[in-house]
Amino acid sequence: MRLKRMCVGVVFGLVLCSPVAAAPAGAESGVPIANLKDQGLNQFEAPYADKLIAAYTSPEWRDVIDMVMTYRNGAYEVWGGSGHIRFVRQRQGGGWSYRIVEQLGTNPIADQRVDRLATSAEETALPIPTAAQNTWPNAYERIVGLFDHPRAPDLAIVRNTANYDGSELGNHGSLGAYQSRAILLAAGAGVKKLGIINKSARVVDVAPTALNLLGTATREGKTLNGSTATGLYLARQDGKVLADILDGTTAEYVLINLWDGAQPTVLMDLVAKGELPTIKSLLDDGTMYGYGSISVFPSVTLANHPSTVFGSYNGHHGSISNSFYERETKTLVAINSINEWYRTANYLEKDNETVFEAVHRSFGDWRGPDNTDPLAEGAYTVATNEPADRGADFSTFQYLRTSLQPGNPADIPPDALDPTYLPCWDPAIALSYPDSYGLESQLDDISARAVMQAWNTAGVTHPAPKLVFMNFTQPDGTSHVVGPRGPEALRAYRDNDCRLRQVLAKIPAEARAKMAIFFVSDHGMGPMDKSNPRNTDDVLAKERIQAVEDGGFIYLLNLRAQLTSGTPTKGAASTLVYTVTDDDTGKPVSGAEATLTSGEQRLEGTTDADGKVTFSITPSANELVFEASDSGFNAARLTHDLSSAKGARTPGTGSPASLVLAGLAALVSSAGMRRARARIQHRNTR
Ligand SMILES: [Zn+2]
Repeated sequence: MRLKRMCVGVVFGLVLCSPVAAAPAGAESGVPIANLKDQGLNQFEAPYADKLIAAYTSPEWRDVIDMVMTYRNGAYEVWGGSGHIRFVRQRQGGGWSYRIVEQLGTNPIADQRVDRLATSAEETALPIPTAAQNTWPNAYERIVGLFDHPRAPDLAIVRNTANYDGSELGNHGSLGAYQSRAILLAAGAGVKKLGIINKSARVVDVAPTALNLLGTATREGKTLNGSTATGLYLARQDGKVLADILDGTTAEYVLINLWDGAQPTVLMDLVAKGELPTIKSLLDDGTMYGYGSISVFPSVTLANHPSTVFGSYNGHHGSISNSFYERETKTLVAINSINEWYRTANYLEKDNETVFEAVHRSFGDWRGPDNTDPLAEGAYTVATNEPADRGADFSTFQYLRTSLQPGNPADIPPDALDPTYLPCWDPAIALSYPDSYGLESQLDDISARAVMQAWNTAGVTHPAPKLVFMNFTQPDGTSHVVGPRGPEALRAYRDNDCRLRQVLAKIPAEARAKMAIFFVSDHGMGPMDKSNPRNTDDVLAKERIQAVEDGGFIYLLNLRAQLTSGTPTKGAASTLVYTVTDDDTGKPVSGAEATLTSGEQRLEGTTDADGKVTFSITPSANELVFEASDSGFNAARLTHDLSSAKGARTPGTGSPASLVLAGLAALVSSAGMRRARARIQHRNTR
């Protein structure tokens, strides 16, 4: 890439310059978001987002917030405490390549190495990396993979683990290495015995690899960049078949066992101590990715479970995070509560295909227990405690969704559970931590017992399960409370090993010999810094900005203003009708206070039931400014430039210029310098 220097200012005689991609006219344009509704920033939201970005990247918050990201004017932006980038995506084969089109200071996600911060020794030496010390595996792909969905936020914050909230000692969700690195170990039929390999995979690779192993029929579908292709295993296949670890033969059965929040480094330490004999036997019989399986962003459960099941990014399957704001209905959907998570399936996009649906497409549907011969034909699939269970013939969560008293695992009928299972957990720990270890131990027992029962009844009431997805909620919950290496969390790993051992023992040897097993997690788990409790919500209040913030996602609550009738002309009498709407719903906002300003003239009005307000004015100045405000919203501002012969209407403040200034101010203050004068050429569109 040819670089030119962009000089942004002079401070005490020091010229502040930054390398910027030399871009011929039009070259900045990448492939825009196809399904763009209101994710990222529009011209009305931008001024408020700019204020927030300036605050989040200021020295006051730099040790708490690693970066802020958004999408505007066709490019993705990432802002850190010591610099920012704008980048675009371009099609390359079935995937993307990425190009930085603007950079000031340091690129916050420059270090995307997957092989750093991957071992116990590194983790011990640096348990809580700063933004400068961390790495951001596959960051471009993961940012792009989030913003494709209209549920994506206006801004997303990446918190440092130092952001202790006063209660938990372990956390995840970050774009950074520890929290983003999940486990991927495959073993058994069709899998090479390579042990631990110095490579990384992705959470989205699990489903296509499992389907390849099963010999599933391929189909036409969409690849990572939305191109149509044949030879895919899923309708939307962002991941790839991990051919490196496959021996070319197929498996008759696949069992996927996910341990929520299992951290690869903690797991390997326990394996080394001989405390996870079942996992050790799988490792001896298969291959594990030594640099892990990189999650989607954010590295949270209800984004990554569906990505495992669909083989697609969260921006494509729709469950973008543990919670998100639905703009059209102005509802915060929090699917991560114990009483809601089984409803995740309601938010999954139909044009993506689950691994269960793909198996049935290829091997046929099981006709159900009422068929004259329940073993006659079709594949039988099982999902236990898995939120993304669409297409599974047996699903524990289906019981909860159809129950009159949903949410209680006790609703699972006893005849769906194996009677011989022996509980693995410690009652004393369960008493001490009833909401995490206690509850989740029982949930995971149900998960294991349901899979064991599916094998008890195999060949009796249904065919042997071709595909099983068995979710264990541990060690996540306990690790949150006591930290990734707390003794109770380590016990949860041992409990899971004991559960998996009993499940595998239940599978007949003949079937076991034809089975491939995927042992995976959905994300990692990092320790938190108790010495630094901070609440990022404070920033919204301090900046007096109306927004919904949850889980690091910020959705600005804005008014939108449009000139719907009339043409303002300098020196000519004009009747102008403006319409004010809720930027999220598009519905008119009545009773909003409106002003129209031209030089010394200032007119006031109020919007009617249709959100309209009419002004008669003879503009005297080159700039005519319409503003609308209402409680609960950030005000909307429209500026008309009347100086040109055309009377051109320009958007308000949709440019990144103020962002550049904010970044510059951060750089300047970090360098101990107090004043900066900047002259910046910038875009001003959308
Ligand atoms: Zn999780």
